[in-house]
Amino acid sequence: MNNFHGGLSGCVEVICGPMFSGKTEELIRRVRRAQIARQKVQIFKPAIDDRYHETDIVSHNSLKIEGTPVNTAAEILENLYDSTRVVGIDEIQFFDEDIIIVVKKLSRRGIRVICAGLDQDFRGTPFGPIPTLLCIADRIEKIQAICTVCGNAASRTYRKDPESNSDQVLVGENDLYEARCAIHWNYDQEDEDLRAYFALKKNMVDESQTTTL
Ligand SMILES: [Zn+2]
Repeated sequence: MNNFHGGLSGCVEVICGPMFSGKTEELIRRVRRAQIARQKVQIFKPAIDDRYHETDIVSHNSLKIEGTPVNTAAEILENLYDSTRVVGIDEIQFFDEDIIIVVKKLSRRGIRVICAGLDQDFRGTPFGPIPTLLCIADRIEKIQAICTVCGNAASRTYRKDPESNSDQVLVGENDLYEARCAIHWNYDQEDEDLRAYFALKKNMVDESQTTTL
């Protein structure tokens, strides 16, 4: 039976959340446990992310594990060993849609695929292939960081200077980004207009109710 993989069935796990939420840390934790179970593990990351070290996957609190930088999703398949049972992919939001095909293919081969990445960019827009990955995932973990303003749980990434660069992809550290709760996140004019609109609408409703009474 060709697609029987020694009793192992493939699956797709997604770890997502804003920056500084511990996604890479969680990826490393899961990978370490698989290594303790003597499963062959390979980790990949997009070559674009050169924040810390070329081949290591490093979390913000300096946990690290060796990984292979790749330029395209297809390179993951090219670099895969036959014996690999678990594939970790960090910063998966930086890959293009081809990563979906690769992830599906790996899981069909009986491989456990652990994907970690940002779910939204600093504008709150879903990041790259993440929406589809969340859809095809067997297991999802959305992690929160801590808001740098109020200390509450934070689900958003705030870019300190939104004018500096309009690109969605801007690799940086805490010099450029902060985790923020929804209240202290991108408080822009559009939100302000929306609040004014709702307030005006509410007043109109209130007034019409008082006149009919
Ligand atoms: Zn806050």
